[in-house]
Amino acid sequence: MKNNVMVTSPLLPPLESFIPYMEKIWESKKLTNGGPFHSQLEDALAAYLGVEYLSLFANGSMALMTAIQALRITGEVITTPYSFVATSHSLLWNNIKPVFVDVDPLTCNIDPAKIEAAITPATTAIMPVHCYGIPCDVDSIQRIADNYGLRVIYDAAHAFAVRNNGESILNHGDLSVLSFHATKVFNTFEGGAIICPNDKIKKRIDYLKNFGFIDELTVVAPGINGKMNEMQAAFGLLQLQYIDEAIGKRKAIYERYRHVLSGIKGLSFINYAESLNWNYAYCPIFIDERYFPLKRDELHHQLKKQEVFARRYFYPLISEFPMYKGLPSTASYNLPNALHVSSQVLCLPLYPDLRDDEFERIVNIIIRISQLKAL
Ligand SMILES: *Cc1c(COP(=O)(O)O)cnc(C)c1O
Repeated sequence: MKNNVMVTSPLLPPLESFIPYMEKIWESKKLTNGGPFHSQLEDALAAYLGVEYLSLFANGSMALMTAIQALRITGEVITTPYSFVATSHSLLWNNIKPVFVDVDPLTCNIDPAKIEAAITPATTAIMPVHCYGIPCDVDSIQRIADNYGLRVIYDAAHAFAVRNNGESILNHGDLSVLSFHATKVFNTFEGGAIICPNDKIKKRIDYLKNFGFIDELTVVAPGINGKMNEMQAAFGLLQLQYIDEAIGKRKAIYERYRHVLSGIKGLSFINYAESLNWNYAYCPIFIDERYFPLKRDELHHQLKKQEVFARRYFYPLISEFPMYKGLPSTASYNLPNALHVSSQVLCLPLYPDLRDDEFERIVNIIIRISQLKAL
């Protein structure tokens, strides 16, 4: 039995259940370019997620870059530094200047109260992230976007299946982008999708992801190859059968973490509304070194020494990477909350197949360390 525990582990249905899908692909000889599994998965996901239109992609980054192209975004885009680096890389790849705005320390999402001050004549859009799958303040963001005529593209890579008051969180803004990377709640090995509100924009997205072809001979835009293939789509269809059970298991493990660890001084969990149908994509905890015996990095190291691979999502901030460092909005006085949560956060292992004995081992390490001062 392997002893090390990673922060996540992919949802893999039984291998033999995938074989009939592979046989169908071999029979049809249709490997990609919008085959039968591709269209089935688009329909099945739209229905499951409660969204109108969805376009599948080879990965989430390609979906983000295409979403920006589809809305013809240029100039400056307001975004968060507290995310995976792909969020603002998608802007740089489109020759757009990211403008970083600080986060709300309770939710780790972009703070709408700080957006207006970052708007300039060059601003064309806002790209917030539903960090950890916890919804942004979508109403405030939309109000600002409407007031200033800005577009909103949500990086919803963490927000698969999240609902607020019964309504999909993916129906906000102009577009939302999902990632189906192996580390995410729902995966197609690699994959992603753009959620869009109407057929017209879906058509544009679909030709952009296929080199700009609208028919056999006509190319109307400098598109890219962002297509999801049939193997990925088939795996997605299979996995969709297991997703509710998987999220249920995530929830149970998350709640056990919270039950067992929430009394510890200097260790806190993220805030979210009771009305939220969350997907339990991550288990971030925040270590306040004034009250906890070890600094976050020391706790991370101690866990690692005992082969528990927790991850510091999101540290460093995107704004600290060299290709962003020179931008005025990356100054530390502009991002105090993001810097603060980034220095405290640690994501604990959380995935459907996390075993009881592994869970016990992880929490026991943390509990033992939390008692160090008392000794
Ligand atoms: C995973 C992730 C992405 C990138 O998705 P890929 O499918 O890996 O390209 C983008 N943004 C965020 C916030 C992510 O977590």
